[in-house]
Amino acid sequence: MNYALLDRGDRLSRALAEEFHALAEARGFKVNDVSPEIVVSIGGDGTLLQAFHRFKNQLEQVSFIGIHTGHLGFYADWKKGEIAELLDLMVSSEPRKVQYPLLHIEITSSLGKTDFLALNEFTLKSVDGTLVAALHINDEPFEMFRGDGIVISTPTGSTGYNKSLGGAVIHPSLEALQIAEIASINNRVYRTLGSSVILPKHHHCDIVPDSEEELFIGIDHLVMQMSTVSNITCRVADDKITFARYRPFPFWNRVREAFIGGSV
Ligand code: NAP
Repeated sequence: MNYALLDRGDRLSRALAEEFHALAEARGFKVNDVSPEIVVSIGGDGTLLQAFHRFKNQLEQVSFIGIHTGHLGFYADWKKGEIAELLDLMVSSEPRKVQYPLLHIEITSSLGKTDFLALNEFTLKSVDGTLVAALHINDEPFEMFRGDGIVISTPTGSTGYNKSLGGAVIHPSLEALQIAEIASINNRVYRTLGSSVILPKHHHCDIVPDSEEELFIGIDHLVMQMSTVSNITCRVADDKITFARYRPFPFWNRVREAFIGGSV
């Protein structure tokens, strides 16, 4: 089996990466940074986001495995003392391949159309104060948004930024996207729904900002500034990310461990 490895770059992650390489080589694994079968990320969920963006053009061939340097994460489900156990399982057993939905974003500006894929979410904010944008669902006007911004997340991203905004946590077996508001202005003049909205796979939404507006666009951990944006279409992507699971770790256990903790 050949693999690529990304680490967060801190001392512990680098040490674990060295440990992984040594134990993997002893078991006959080969490093392949160009077209690996397995991508191993060592750090946190944020490191897995970076690994996803590095290999997002090879999603059909690649399976991801995350090793967390701290607590267990949503994408990183092995801990630092478990590398030898993981590698032994990789030698001796076939993993369950688990696939999670992604978000497809198409941004139209004076430069043309540009497509992006997000594992967690797409974030839209105005560089200069309040964001003003029309939201359409399935080509019908839905609301006029005024506020700090809009976050559109995947089911696995629903535990990230979306959750801090009061959005629902969605099981990743549901192919859906979720639209959450960041501090919308609601008064007698401006009105939005106020709660998050969940769309199924066969629906899409468009955000139509004022094309004069300078925008902050966030795709997971990546942030860019864009102008002359006339339309942004978001839908559940056709592509999915695949994780190689060598042991079960149910999604609701992750949610409980991350946000509730303790014994019930
Ligand atoms: P960061 O600002 O360094 O860390 C953000 C935190 O979010 C980290 O603790 C990270 O976990 C965690 N995280 C990432 N994906 C998650 C997920 N799907 N479910 C639950 N927690 C998750 O940035 P980063 O590490 O590059 O991650 C970028 C992500 O940060 C964005 O995609 C967004 O979801 C999130 N974010 C959240 C807020 C907020 O809640 N107010 C604001 C901006 C961005 P690890 O420690 O395991 O890496």
